[in-house]
Amino acid sequence: MSAPVVQGWCPGAHRPMMSGDGLVVRVRPRLARLSAAQTLGLCDLALRFGNGTIDLTNRANLQLRGVAEADHQALLVELSALNLLDAEPGIETRRNILVSPLYEEGDLTARLTRALIDRLGDLPALPAKFGFAVDTGAARLLAGDSADIRLERGASGLILRADGAETGRLVTEDEAIDRVIDLARWFAERFTSDTRRMARLIAAHDLPDEWQGHALGPTAPALQPGNCEIGPIHGAAFGQLPAAELRALVKASGAAALRVTPWRLFLLEGGAAIPAPAFVTDGADPLLSTDACPGAPFCPQAQAETRAIARALAPRVSGSLHVSGCAKGCARMGAADLTLVGRDGRFDLVKHGRAGDEPLQRGLDPETLKTMDLT
Ligand code: SF4
Repeated sequence: MSAPVVQGWCPGAHRPMMSGDGLVVRVRPRLARLSAAQTLGLCDLALRFGNGTIDLTNRANLQLRGVAEADHQALLVELSALNLLDAEPGIETRRNILVSPLYEEGDLTARLTRALIDRLGDLPALPAKFGFAVDTGAARLLAGDSADIRLERGASGLILRADGAETGRLVTEDEAIDRVIDLARWFAERFTSDTRRMARLIAAHDLPDEWQGHALGPTAPALQPGNCEIGPIHGAAFGQLPAAELRALVKASGAAALRVTPWRLFLLEGGAAIPAPAFVTDGADPLLSTDACPGAPFCPQAQAETRAIARALAPRVSGSLHVSGCAKGCARMGAADLTLVGRDGRFDLVKHGRAGDEPLQRGLDPETLKTMDLT
């Protein structure tokens, strides 16, 4: 089996990634929100230029897949008309900001995120995956999500925290973004090819005391499908949003906007709680804890088709299931209770590990898997 190819950059709208079925064009919603008009427009673009499905990623971004190279420029024009495109590719790359999706317009999270977006041009050069989290609600929602510099609610006020540190620095709202830039510069002056993320760097270099000392506030329970104050919450199996069904749901619910999360959940802001059969509406649905990358034929490195077998096996696996088209394991970097790794059209089986770990069994036929005891 050939070793998986590791991409050194994150695809965006300006710099799409070529996949097995065409370009992957990523849109980064500002403040994790698309107005209803933007959502409907993006659904139309997915149907017109893509494969009819919008991916919701674990960075709360949206991706169109299956775009022909010849259509890329026309798609950019349409995204720009929807105000979903940064004018500069460099700013698009830096706007890697996770936002707690339960913010209210004008609250601290919204103000800080806008202020950070306005200052992205002041950041130093940073590694491609370096990101930020703004999570200043009453309880932290993004604690388990990847980010290098975090603005959070601390036990005694707003804190800025280097990822990997157990405490943060108390900051005022007025100075918060200046201090974010200071910490990004501290990182930029020190990181190496082995320490391209903040947590790794501070494990190797002591973080100065000035960036520590103030305790974190509480964490919130994970969001679930259902209703919240902002509107109904639905889930997307494997992070796939079928565009026609999403368009119909947004229209029928009367939602003012779509809010996206890193957890394959989306909120219909101000929308009515109406049936949504194309989406996951039960927090206990095993599809919400099942990971499967696009697999074959969509990814050129895939050695097996992934999502149909994941759907078939999800209800039969106790615990988490990860089906990966190859050993790279894009859909889940951490361990799962059961991982199936595509190899030459069959699957290797890893228990309590990652896609790259040593398998317990090799070369399992997909039909055999459907009848095996996987508990
Ligand atoms: S894990 Fe899946 S998406 Fe990632 S390279 Fe392998 S086949 Fe492609």
